[in-house]
Amino acid sequence: MIQKLFDFIAGCPTACHTTAALGAMLEAAGYTRLQETEPWELEPGRGYFTTRAMSSLIAFQAPKGDFSAFSIVAPHGDSPSFKVKESPELPCEGHYTRLNTEVYGGPLLRLWTDRPLSVAGRLALRRERGVETRLVDLSQDLLIIPGLAPHLDRETAEQGGKLDRQKDTLPLLGGEGADLLELLAQSIGERKEDVLTHDLYLYVRQRGTQLGAKGEYIAAPRLDDLECVFSAVTALLQGGNGEDCKVLAVFDNEEIGSLTRQGADSTFLSDVLARVCAGFGKGEEGKLRAIQGGMLLSADNAHGVHPSYPEKYDPTNRCYLNGGVVVKHSTRYATDAVTAGVFQRICELAGVPTQAYYNNSKVPGGSTLGNLSGSHVSIPTVDIGLAQLSMHSPYETAGAEDLGHMIAAMTAFYNTPLRREGDGSYSLG
Ligand code: ZN
Repeated sequence: MIQKLFDFIAGCPTACHTTAALGAMLEAAGYTRLQETEPWELEPGRGYFTTRAMSSLIAFQAPKGDFSAFSIVAPHGDSPSFKVKESPELPCEGHYTRLNTEVYGGPLLRLWTDRPLSVAGRLALRRERGVETRLVDLSQDLLIIPGLAPHLDRETAEQGGKLDRQKDTLPLLGGEGADLLELLAQSIGERKEDVLTHDLYLYVRQRGTQLGAKGEYIAAPRLDDLECVFSAVTALLQGGNGEDCKVLAVFDNEEIGSLTRQGADSTFLSDVLARVCAGFGKGEEGKLRAIQGGMLLSADNAHGVHPSYPEKYDPTNRCYLNGGVVVKHSTRYATDAVTAGVFQRICELAGVPTQAYYNNSKVPGGSTLGNLSGSHVSIPTVDIGLAQLSMHSPYETAGAEDLGHMIAAMTAFYNTPLRREGDGSYSLG
């Protein structure tokens, strides 16, 4: 499974590629692609998926009979990076061409310097009567953001250095006249003159690896949050209880606040759930009952205790690599005692270890998509993830055993029929 995760990560350099890779996996498993602009004719028992803006995806499979609950798993498909701006080439003194970029999300800027990078994304192409958008991935070591030698900037080097987001983040493409769009257009058999515009991101190609004295750890780019995406799609394709409607929602733009038309803070999930219910003849009341009877796992990786900074974490709720699935609590998360209790009981019954996370009260920590999604679909929600180190580094570290823990937990979640017995009580199959 770890090698399969590394293959998956290598094929998902951007959120658009994550969506395309998931679509291919789902189609191979018999799921049918739906367009949001077309009418949907749904058959019970069959799997379907739709995408929005090419970068978010929702898959669902309703049972053969009527259903009274949605079992939803929701990770995010984007990662911190650098977006290539329009007209990106910046010539320098007749010797260099750099690319003009903006920071996407919160990458650890200094760690992105001095390592080989590539470019992937999508090109909007001129067609005789319109526009076609195609994915591109140069998939070669192409760029490097050169750091400045400490001899030339002792003050910054000694202070650990704050980098200038416009000046210190520009990758070197080549010598005079180097042309990124020419390379990209050629790579997909198109002409540069037909490129109208683009969404392009830098990414790390280095393959994931297993390390540690006993192979305890994995390290790879984009573990946050492709480890949860991979676990979720694996669980979707192998789990199910034949009673609840299972849903996988992979959102773009979590790293920049989710407030896009395809992000978790959009109507994408509520629109799809409404159409699923309409397609199966459920009225408004039936939809609301299935939402309140269901549950959403907001799945996004968590902070494991860093061995050199143990003081940064909560005194009693400390998560470790290979310690099992993390249940995240704090006012920034959607978790409460009911949802955490249900999720932990499902894991307990399946023999999957869990651990609780709270922020140290002096360290704000991060946020994620659960409460934003919940503002549109107010379904019982629990925030979960896997403990990892160096979040938002171009090469992150997690526990080798935890991937299996997450797949088992998500599979058990899809397998467990959720039966709400009054407000706050559940029977789990
Ligand atoms: Zn994340």
